[in-house]
Amino acid sequence: MKKLEIVIENPTGLHARPAKTFVNIAKKFSSDIVVIHNDKKAKGKSLISLLTLGAETGAQIQIEVDGDDEDQALEAIKEAIESGLGEEELIQEKETGGTQDTIVEKVQEPSTVKEGVFSGIPASPGIAIGTVFQFKRADLVIEEKSSGRKEEKKRLQEAIQTAKSQLKHLNEQMLESGATQEAAIFDVHVELLSDEEILEEIDAQLERGQSAAKSLQYVIDEKAKVLAGLSDPVLSGRAADLYDVGYRVLRNMLGEEVGSIELPDSPVVIFARDLSPSDTVSLDPDKVLGFCTSEGGPTSHTAIIARALSIPAVVGAGDNILKVLPGSQVILDGKAGTILVEPSAEQVKQAQVNQDQERTRQERMLKIASEPAVTKDGHRIEVVANIGGPADAEKALQMGAEGVGLLRTEFLFLERKTPPAENEQQEVYSKILEMMGRFPVIVRTFDVGGDKPIPYIQTPPEENPFLGIRGIRLGLANPEIFREQITALLKSANCGNLHIMFPMISDIQEIIEAVQIVSEIQEELNADPVKLGIMIEVPSAALLADIIAPDIDFFSIGTNDLTQYTLATDRMHGVLSKNLDGLHPAVLRLIAQTVQGAHQYGKWVGVCGELGADPAAIPILVGLGVDELSVSVPAIPEVKEIIREISFDKAKEIAQKALKCKTAADVRALLNQS
Ligand code: PEP
Ligand code: MG
Repeated sequence: MKKLEIVIENPTGLHARPAKTFVNIAKKFSSDIVVIHNDKKAKGKSLISLLTLGAETGAQIQIEVDGDDEDQALEAIKEAIESGLGEEELIQEKETGGTQDTIVEKVQEPSTVKEGVFSGIPASPGIAIGTVFQFKRADLVIEEKSSGRKEEKKRLQEAIQTAKSQLKHLNEQMLESGATQEAAIFDVHVELLSDEEILEEIDAQLERGQSAAKSLQYVIDEKAKVLAGLSDPVLSGRAADLYDVGYRVLRNMLGEEVGSIELPDSPVVIFARDLSPSDTVSLDPDKVLGFCTSEGGPTSHTAIIARALSIPAVVGAGDNILKVLPGSQVILDGKAGTILVEPSAEQVKQAQVNQDQERTRQERMLKIASEPAVTKDGHRIEVVANIGGPADAEKALQMGAEGVGLLRTEFLFLERKTPPAENEQQEVYSKILEMMGRFPVIVRTFDVGGDKPIPYIQTPPEENPFLGIRGIRLGLANPEIFREQITALLKSANCGNLHIMFPMISDIQEIIEAVQIVSEIQEELNADPVKLGIMIEVPSAALLADIIAPDIDFFSIGTNDLTQYTLATDRMHGVLSKNLDGLHPAVLRLIAQTVQGAHQYGKWVGVCGELGADPAAIPILVGLGVDELSVSVPAIPEVKEIIREISFDKAKEIAQKALKCKTAADVRALLNQS
């Protein structure tokens, strides 16, 4: 065993993001890692465990590492702690007079109450007109007396097992509705159910003679409290998830109804302090016209699920909404974030007109989803899907996708101990290609690394993982795995219309090497050539588009990364990422330059980042000459409809004006005027 005494010097101590960095590094090694502070021990690979240590800046901690790679592990951890556990940006914030907390306060504006009008944070668009149902969960009656440790443990394990299958079902339900990313929320819940630290602490309570229900409630409440108190909003938001999953197990144990709210027969607008992600996913859209919560934020999992289910919602509307009398009539506007209590007859009439217009538009959109997206003056844009696996492909076709613009292959590589075998990969690729028939399927080679550690690829710890060995860099640095993926792809090519795309290209040399590998394998297999393209996610690639264009077949702009690298703002940053906007003129100029460079050589350009589905951005992207938009499956019908509503000439005019704007806000204002 190796030991190290070290002082934590980064500004917030072992909290939030630094703890996340610590865990990511620890997980790269097989050795057992324990962190000790003030006689409290934490598991170095459990985020919850480390967070609850409460090691502030200046704290002396002891690290014990035991196992085959203990030397390397200890060295990596030491280096990471000495270099501040990724907290440079906080030091700068302090120097410029701000702290994370003050910024959070500014972002989460308190709701205001006017006469009969409440306002909160818009969480899911749509208008709901109906009567209020105030929802409050009944308090649970918990038996504290143990019926014996063995018996209680069995009860707990059974309740956890039931919770796991419920969560699996919810995950599948979301996948079926095409909401892949939302489905992953329930994978996180399953992961929380397996957190070593939580299970051990429950065990310790059981040993003390507590019942399983009491032990579970105690540990979940304690841990959720610690998480909720963290200043990083992303991490503190996870308290709601821990609470949700913990109480799911508890209700299972007590034989209570789980995940469904008992509602009156006629549809209602739910008012509640908060709804958990599980509550929300179980809402029946036929019975729930909309919901409003006094707590919560727009990035909570509850808000994300409401959007996926198309239920209008307003969150964070303040405690006063809980005083609205049940049965009152309300108009909830999920786009504006307002709730009008006891509206006038005139106001109801107007809301009904708006609602009808929107409903007709939605129905029309779905009916003609499979038809091409052509502007009023005859310019066609291909609308294709971003997918994360075969389940999405089928749904994409139903929603009118004209192909797959981005297959994220990471799902095959993450969460496992060894790389996926060639035949396993080939089977998945072939299935998707077959399903999509003649439509193009753009498969992106694996885009992992840095912040997403994979145990079978050892990379040295990095201070700035987003600027480190990720994307194509990781592929080229691990040629066996990269070659295996290319081989599997080329072997499945005859099942459909395969295109291969390389992520995170920042330098032409990377393209040369990647293309060389593809040609070698093609020759070995005697396979037909396939179209090869690159993602434009780094400003250097956009700036050199005209130099790169002759050597590849297509470009696809990853606006999520292009925006973060152009504006030097981490897209996962708990505070700053909320203000990241792909409509920033600097990003738009890079998109314009990419299109110019590509079109000069007759090559096409797609956009596969989130910006492609932003209704405000679509006219600008079309006007800049983008040929294809690749968006999440549920967004396809609406994206096509927006394209049909614009004229190419007008879009070009707006795009040119946008390129001359000073800020993203100016671009958005420009769109409101036109
Ligand atoms: C992007 O960066 O815009 C993109 C589509 O890739 P990902 O979101 O998978 O990084
Ligand atoms: Mg990307």
